[in-house]
Amino acid sequence: MNISNLKKSGFALTPLFLAASILLSVALNLAAAGKERRIYVVTDLEGISGVYQFAQTRETDTPLARQAREYFMGDLAAVVRGLRDGGATDVLVLDGHGNQAMIPHLAEPGARYITGQPRPGFLIGLDSSFVGLVLLGYHAMMGTSNAVLHHTQSSKSENRYWYNGLESGELAQCAAIAGHFGVPPILVTGDDATCREAERFFGASCVTVSVKRGIAREAAELYPFQETRKALYRGARKAMRAIPHCKPYRLEWPVKAKMQFLSFENPSQPALQIREAVIPDGLHILDF
Ligand SMILES: [Zn+2]
Repeated sequence: MNISNLKKSGFALTPLFLAASILLSVALNLAAAGKERRIYVVTDLEGISGVYQFAQTRETDTPLARQAREYFMGDLAAVVRGLRDGGATDVLVLDGHGNQAMIPHLAEPGARYITGQPRPGFLIGLDSSFVGLVLLGYHAMMGTSNAVLHHTQSSKSENRYWYNGLESGELAQCAAIAGHFGVPPILVTGDDATCREAERFFGASCVTVSVKRGIAREAAELYPFQETRKALYRGARKAMRAIPHCKPYRLEWPVKAKMQFLSFENPSQPALQIREAVIPDGLHILDF
């Protein structure tokens, strides 16, 4: 029976019908509120379109670094647009590169942006109200062959990290923090090696977008930005659809952690240093 038939029957005028329609609209509003889709985007610089030299990423205000930061804002804009068009209701971006990459006047509308130092923690603002984590402009872990600008945390001291014996890079470290809040990685962007690492750690449901192919640590096959940003936009939309299939990245806590790094501070000690610790949960994975 449709509305006009209801009216003809006189039912539309009854208090019962009015009460039912109010209840229905309340229920619809509640359902819409439950569909809040908040996405947390953490960014890095080494996996951005056109970035393939440390000279582009280790400084902030050299001509090369400023240009790389513009490349970064272009990739980020494509992803923000894709997330919003894919149904994200709130996008929070954390400028995650060590010396920061954000250029405020190039910020794409439709997101909020956190930058600057100091910060009270790493993935600040992230909590269980988010439905997905995006890792934008990332790089493969230290030691990955043919991976552009591969490193883990520090490219200068060549840090390497193992958690319960599994060597892990920054992708897994970030995802483990998000995993503490039950938030799954839904999109990873970077070079082809970064995408392979994402698939190995997060499974095939997590969408990956490769914006370059690594040839050596500072050599890559690059693609025109028009093409990479189209792929980033499409990847972000696809990631929104993939959310129900993506799983949070969880380790077995507490975790036995090992860190290896080079130190030249004390000439009487060997350069290669190893540190071990037990980490209680994902929130503390970057504490040592
Ligand atoms: Zn990084």
